[in-house]
Amino acid sequence: LHPMRALFKIPRNPPPTLHQPELWSHDFNDFISRCLIKDFELRPNVLDLLQHVFIKQTVGREKILQKQLIELTDLNHFSHFNPVSVIKAIMERQTEAQTNIVTEQLQSRYSRDQIYTYVGDILIAVNPFRKMEIYTPQHTKMYIGAKRTANPPHIFAVADIAYQSVVSYNTDQCVVISGESGAGKTESAHLLVQQLTVLGKANNRTLQEKILLVNSLVEAFGNACTAINDNSSRFGKYLEMKFTCGGTVVGAKICEYLLEKSRVIHQAVGERNFHIFYYVYAGLADRKKLAHYKLSDSKTPKYLCNEHIKLGPDIVSNAFYKEQFDAVEQCFKVIGFTLEELGSVYSTLAAILNSGDIEFSAVASEHQTDKSNITNMSALENVASLLRIRSDELQEALTSHCVVARGETIVRPNTVEKAVEVRDAMGKALYGRLFSWIVNRINVLLRPDSQEAEKGLNIGILDIFGFENFKKNSFEQLCINIANEQIQFYFNQHIFAWEQDEYLNEEVDARMIEYEDNRPLLDLFLQKPMGMLSLLDEESRFPQATDQTLVEKFEDNLKTKSFWRPKRVDLGFGIHHYAGKVIYNAAGFLSKNRETLPADIILLLRSSENELIRKLVTHPLTKTGKEATLLLSGFCGVFSPDVWCQPETTNMKTQTVASYFRYSLMDLLSKMVAGQPHFVRCIKPNNDRQANKFDREKVLVQLRYTGVLETAKIRRQGYSHRILFANFIKRYYLLAFNAHEEPPVTPETCAAIMEKARLENWAMGKTKVFLKYYHVEHLNLMVQLT
Ligand code: ATP
Ligand code: MG
Repeated sequence: LHPMRALFKIPRNPPPTLHQPELWSHDFNDFISRCLIKDFELRPNVLDLLQHVFIKQTVGREKILQKQLIELTDLNHFSHFNPVSVIKAIMERQTEAQTNIVTEQLQSRYSRDQIYTYVGDILIAVNPFRKMEIYTPQHTKMYIGAKRTANPPHIFAVADIAYQSVVSYNTDQCVVISGESGAGKTESAHLLVQQLTVLGKANNRTLQEKILLVNSLVEAFGNACTAINDNSSRFGKYLEMKFTCGGTVVGAKICEYLLEKSRVIHQAVGERNFHIFYYVYAGLADRKKLAHYKLSDSKTPKYLCNEHIKLGPDIVSNAFYKEQFDAVEQCFKVIGFTLEELGSVYSTLAAILNSGDIEFSAVASEHQTDKSNITNMSALENVASLLRIRSDELQEALTSHCVVARGETIVRPNTVEKAVEVRDAMGKALYGRLFSWIVNRINVLLRPDSQEAEKGLNIGILDIFGFENFKKNSFEQLCINIANEQIQFYFNQHIFAWEQDEYLNEEVDARMIEYEDNRPLLDLFLQKPMGMLSLLDEESRFPQATDQTLVEKFEDNLKTKSFWRPKRVDLGFGIHHYAGKVIYNAAGFLSKNRETLPADIILLLRSSENELIRKLVTHPLTKTGKEATLLLSGFCGVFSPDVWCQPETTNMKTQTVASYFRYSLMDLLSKMVAGQPHFVRCIKPNNDRQANKFDREKVLVQLRYTGVLETAKIRRQGYSHRILFANFIKRYYLLAFNAHEEPPVTPETCAAIMEKARLENWAMGKTKVFLKYYHVEHLNLMVQLT
């Protein structure tokens, strides 16, 4: 049995017609292997289609069939009446049919436990929702330095190609993992890091171990259980692994983006706070240390309360949480955090939980009816003691604020509403800064020696929160979805726009592919001064503004089909994203965007006797204000057109979440653009997180909106490799010339090589040879053989 047939369940005794030599311009086996190797991995479908076209038609009607096909495909002629070109032509014509074919293909592979598929050089990963036996040490080995076609598609192969490119071309690489929430991005990122540490031959075991633990550690703090995913990333993560030119891994660095801090103080129905709170609670209970951290084993802190969780068995005695706590502590220790630092981290977390329980009541007085009082002093005392600050000062900072008027400082009382706002702002700020501090600390601990780092190369892995569409969508979903919109834009630019530009420049005749350009949508969000984020910032500056005036402002200024106001939703507005329509609710947008931590609180925390707390509020860990604006203006380019990142015209004293978000996005893009990208597209096969369940409609929608099919098309029609004449000749001249010959650097020499290699469908530009990726594979193989 031909091994390829075994692999793809081709019947042992194919119908005799398949062997009719006049039908096939190539020998059958040769033809199959050509399909298998050269075409993207739609293998059985190519065969299915062939069977459909050739076998079900009466044998001997080739001429008629050829005529029909020419009509059907608009192509003037086929160079040979060759099944491959016929099928390609048909497939090009039938995009919708293709969608079905790709889906079918993914489904059939999925049912055979093949969760990975290549579309051109993009890896599609369908979430198996169960443990797969394909990540064993044998698999690790199998994919090291192997030809892509030698093994079934795999995430390890992506790691390998990125690694080999770093070593061979000495250029930075970047793996962009995308897909909706729960599709498997974070898991894929883990697997990439796992394989890369092996490839990078980390010279000491400890470094390898540390790098592997980094993900688990930051995820304990940055992931949470949502309605869609039990381990949903609530921040964007760009992990850079650092290599020497020789390919040894020497360090790592994480950049974190847009942590969803609001989760600390509030979680939607059925969702939870960040994992670490539960881990710490259960872990400290296990060690009988709850009292030390002022936590109760009988009363759930308000920030962890929602209707599904009870303190008892749900948290305190949850064995999984305890295990996770031990694991997190182990990660901290192995990476190099000190015990003292760990104690401070737990104190900060406990202080945040306690602060949520500080309650206020309105005090009616003759002059001021809007004063507030703290009703449970014990919670206040707990927070003050954990943060090592004075409780009377904390009380004052929560219940009053200073205003400077005509050079005089006046103390004004806070209403209950305002006091709650300040309390929550403190909780969010402490958590956000703690998270950034941990990330910075990891970066210091995993930094390579400066000498190595200077010459070093990077492989970056981008894993952000996926596109979200809940029953109720707020400011957080808007930010997450804009970030995804931006990643999609990058993907389009890379795959479509740049490639087509190059065809034009090189005067290569390639059919242009139409793709959904989401630039208008990004303009809608990012344009200055009339984009949604700018309007939000403007409104955030007016003290009298409300969420209602904000939505009205949107409605008055955003005149596009992608924005609309649904009739029956109060404060609602709809956006037609590339990935689908989402209805947002603007309730809370302004306060979420302002997110200011009063100066009184900052000053108070700076007086803390705990070094970590002081650090959290002393150094701005994230870029703010002017610095961010400056950086932003430096990012104008293909990915961030001028209209998205002009410097602020007005001088904003306090930075809003929206402006920081904009800065972060541009920063992220600047990193991605710097490396050669590799794409991994994660697909979620069903909404129930069930194994062995493939919801075709669900997959189809994802394939459509991510442009996978257009990508398949451009990869087939287009030329993914464009090599300068000189480089091409240098690498491949042996295929057509003798070793001692020095053929001239001309298009004719290149053509001679291609003809000698008996390759078709390539193109000649003005300075480069345009090749399909399978040409390169074929050429490399031939060079190896000569
Ligand atoms: P989000 O955008 O919400 O962060 P995500 O795309 O990062 O989502 P993951 O957390 O990676 O999604 O995956 C969700 C779940 O799917 C995992 O917890 C795991 O149970 C399962 N899963 C994903 N990929 C794999 C895989 N390769 N093998 C086994 N299980 C997987
Ligand atoms: Mg994730």
